[in-house]
Amino acid sequence: MSDLTQCVLTPEVSTDGFAPLGVGVHRASTIVFEDAAAYASRGERGHEGYSYGLYGTPTTRTLEAKLTSLEGGVWTFLTPSGQAANALAALPFLAAGDHILIADTAYPPMRDLAQTDLRRLGVEVEFFDPQLPEDVASKIRKSTRIVWCESPGSTTMEVLDLPRIVAIAHEHGALVGVDNTWATPLNFKPLKHGADIVTEALTKFVSGHSDVLMGSITVRDASLIKPIRSLIGRMGIGVSPDDASLVLRGFETLGVRLRHSERVALDFARKIEGHPLVKQVLHPALESFSDHALWKRDFLGSSGVFSIVFTEEASTHVAASLDALKVFAIGASWGGTRSLAAPMSVEGFRSATAWNGPDIILRLSIGLEDEGELWEDVERLLECLDVRTGGVASDATPKTARRG
Ligand SMILES: *Cc1c(COP(=O)(O)O)cnc(C)c1O
Repeated sequence: MSDLTQCVLTPEVSTDGFAPLGVGVHRASTIVFEDAAAYASRGERGHEGYSYGLYGTPTTRTLEAKLTSLEGGVWTFLTPSGQAANALAALPFLAAGDHILIADTAYPPMRDLAQTDLRRLGVEVEFFDPQLPEDVASKIRKSTRIVWCESPGSTTMEVLDLPRIVAIAHEHGALVGVDNTWATPLNFKPLKHGADIVTEALTKFVSGHSDVLMGSITVRDASLIKPIRSLIGRMGIGVSPDDASLVLRGFETLGVRLRHSERVALDFARKIEGHPLVKQVLHPALESFSDHALWKRDFLGSSGVFSIVFTEEASTHVAASLDALKVFAIGASWGGTRSLAAPMSVEGFRSATAWNGPDIILRLSIGLEDEGELWEDVERLLECLDVRTGGVASDATPKTARRG
């Protein structure tokens, strides 16, 4: 064989005895076939076979298999982001004239997709109160195809009574989709509570290092595989094996990272709760939280993310006070090793329910830094907020923020 041909062809080497723990990164667009007959019948390989890089490689299949097993589903699709997973979980099942019901506290880009694109395509979009399954019962129609849930709700953490919502939706022939990013499959398993589709922003806790974007869609029933797979294919959507490999690596430490972050987050939430400038801490594992009983009934644990509602007056100083932080970084997204603080606007992202607090609330994501140093940072923030608000807290109860 000529040198030029040898440069192109891949020589066979033995893999006998090579048993690595890490998952190989298999990069591929083209997948070659043994013979002409195998090529001609490639369409019959189904969703489990390999036919083209876009439809999967052993690297992406490994990540999909891990998620399918943890979620208790039958198949998983990977998408280039968590929001892409939400969009591609809903789109295959909707046509003009259909109706979708969406939890009022769903991830804002999902609301936006519904209000902008689904409406443009002729889908009727309606939102429901996440804390009132009766609202789903009264709004559901014959034409409802999907009831879209997120539990707990983005930023404000309302927990849904998923089994009740599932019962109502299924009685009317609608599918139930759940964005499970906050809990991850370790702390909540929506499919086991009757949901048909679960999505995860793997970008957050599962990958865990703030350096990759990915999402997943896992389905409970095999009949849902084809509609999703074929739409994803027609839209030309896939993920790179390199990115999948990063997520697989992060996944191996998810258990210990999540347990650590949830413990520290709950401890901080408890300590912050009594502060005079704090109206409410929104964390489902707090006994004081309105939906605590539902969380306790259905969830296996909490997460490293929660929000703080300050008094009206203090809330106007939240953004400026973030400059007092030395360990927390200021930024969106969450679930990485670095703790993050982000002021979040609430009012503009709901339409079926009323928000009675100040528009800006503070979301904290607890990472893996020393928890004592992180707490000192929270104290600095609260003190800065207190000074800007006129010293209310230090006059009233001098050491509230310093407990623990
Ligand atoms: C971040 C997030 C998403 C979107 O994930 P991306 O990968 O950033 O697109 C979806 N749902 C929830 C609840 C999220 O927090």
